[in-house]
Amino acid sequence: MNEKTTISQALMDNNIAERLNSAYRQMAEIRQKNSSTTPTAQLIAVSKTKPADMLLAAYQAGQKAFGENYVQELAQKATELAHLTDIEWHFIGPIQSNKTRDIARFAHWVHSVDRLKIAERLSAQRPLDMAPLKVLIQVNISGEASKAGVMPQDVLALARQITALPQLKLCGLMAIPAPAIAHDNSAAFAAMAQLSKTLQQELPQATELSMGMSDDWQQALIYGATMIRLGTAIFGARETHLYE
Ligand SMILES: *Cc1c(COP(=O)(O)O)cnc(C)c1O
Repeated sequence: MNEKTTISQALMDNNIAERLNSAYRQMAEIRQKNSSTTPTAQLIAVSKTKPADMLLAAYQAGQKAFGENYVQELAQKATELAHLTDIEWHFIGPIQSNKTRDIARFAHWVHSVDRLKIAERLSAQRPLDMAPLKVLIQVNISGEASKAGVMPQDVLALARQITALPQLKLCGLMAIPAPAIAHDNSAAFAAMAQLSKTLQQELPQATELSMGMSDDWQQALIYGATMIRLGTAIFGARETHLYE
């Protein structure tokens, strides 16, 4: 490494650590102000399209949970960073049924399960010497025709089917609301909170609620998000992606 790359590497590391610190500080403040409604939430650093050395910088700043959208990228990074045994990989992208094997092998969590066929494949392909894969059902909360996710009225039926699969553990729900007008996703977040409550009446263990991204995570927390997924806010803007 020459001097110039060393300096820019140090600046980048510093920047990522600062952004993480700032996000964690804001999370604590929001929780303090709204302690009656806001559970402790986990920050998932969404590292899609970003090189492994940026993940390493975040890891060295204390970040353990990372979100990836593309199976091939998850497999590459999980292999490259396999020596960091306490990293937790969250798969958050659309799932094609011919790509489930690597997800079942490398991910600790999958946020984007939206049909039984995918759940069955993930369960069948999860190695038996690994703990059951933790999964969330992705809900199409804004009712967009083009969007992934099950419709709210179909969540319970899918949840019941998933609980019968031996190598999966159903932990809750996830949503990506339609792009908000003036960053206000309160209606979608409130609907998700209600749906989560209904689900927990039947399946009390399904407590996780993954919602909120760089533009709207503060609001998501107030509506009871237990996992927020931050990409741009931690790693900066993304370039158009190779796998997209
Ligand atoms: C890319 C992505 C994120 C992070 O988006 P930012 O706006 O960059 O924070 C979160 N969740 C999912 C499902 C994503 O695909």
